[in-house]
Amino acid sequence: MPWKGERDPYLIWISEIILQQTRVDQGTKYYEALTGRYPTVSALATADETELFKIWQGLGYYNRCKNMLFTARYIADRLDGIFPRNYDDILALKGIGTYTAAAIASFAYDLSYAVVDGNVVRVLSRYFGLQTDFNTTAGKKEFQLLAQQLIDPKNSALYNQAIMDLGATICKPQQPLCNECPFNKKCIAFNTDRIADFPVKKNRLTLRHRHFHFLVFESKHAIYIHKRTEKDIWQNLHTFYAFEQEQADIETLPYMRNLTLTDVSDEYTQVLTHQKIHGWFYKIKVGNRLPEGLPELIKVQKQELKNFAFPRMIISFLQKNNYL
Ligand code: SF4
Repeated sequence: MPWKGERDPYLIWISEIILQQTRVDQGTKYYEALTGRYPTVSALATADETELFKIWQGLGYYNRCKNMLFTARYIADRLDGIFPRNYDDILALKGIGTYTAAAIASFAYDLSYAVVDGNVVRVLSRYFGLQTDFNTTAGKKEFQLLAQQLIDPKNSALYNQAIMDLGATICKPQQPLCNECPFNKKCIAFNTDRIADFPVKKNRLTLRHRHFHFLVFESKHAIYIHKRTEKDIWQNLHTFYAFEQEQADIETLPYMRNLTLTDVSDEYTQVLTHQKIHGWFYKIKVGNRLPEGLPELIKVQKQELKNFAFPRMIISFLQKNNYL
């Protein structure tokens, strides 16, 4: 991990934001691309939004990227480009929660704040046999308190790194290496043969299914895309003009009267947090102008599509159809 042992709060912040919902192996190349292009918080503050979103493309959860840019600009404009040095000021920044604030405070400044990420939750819940679901208000409090009691105040960065590494490499989600674990003598989960019961998870959320029908208006060289600005999935990314309903009969739409539907795709799917997106793409031939009755769309030369940021489902469609 290129950020391991890092003391620069800006670089720690970027790595933690990337890793919030992303695996290390996937996040590393994004970390390198982002910090290579914007090596300091002041550089990030001057980033062009479209270019930044393009670099972020594929990581998902685009609010992270939006908040990151907002915070970089705030630090550059209001704090003279200097990252805050104490926990409360770090926590006050937009897009930074208790976990990221603790990571920055501890790794950059050796302040005694315990980080509680998925790895830490797994180790603590198994070792102590905790019955509380971390994803509840009471659970968050209990785990945070316990982690804070365990931290070595003189070596907080080392302690935090060690417990996270233990969770990532020994106390793994599946098939933990208990025989090699230095804590196996007192670990409750191991000694009561209940490893699979921890961490405790109650009230699992059910997946919401959403059905999108994307209209791909295209002429010989151009294609029409749409920027999603509403507070919903894929905010600030580009898709095609879409409507959301379980089933659709495209050819009965009024603006389809003089147009030709040339292809209908198979179903594409993408799983997001608590949502599964089902998508179908309808290729529609148009002339130089779009028919009346459509909202304003962005006309793009096909070879320029690579300059826009798209969600994963749209990228799959574009690649499969040789647009990218
Ligand atoms: S003994 Fe096994 S379950 Fe317990 S902390 Fe170690 S790796 Fe995790």
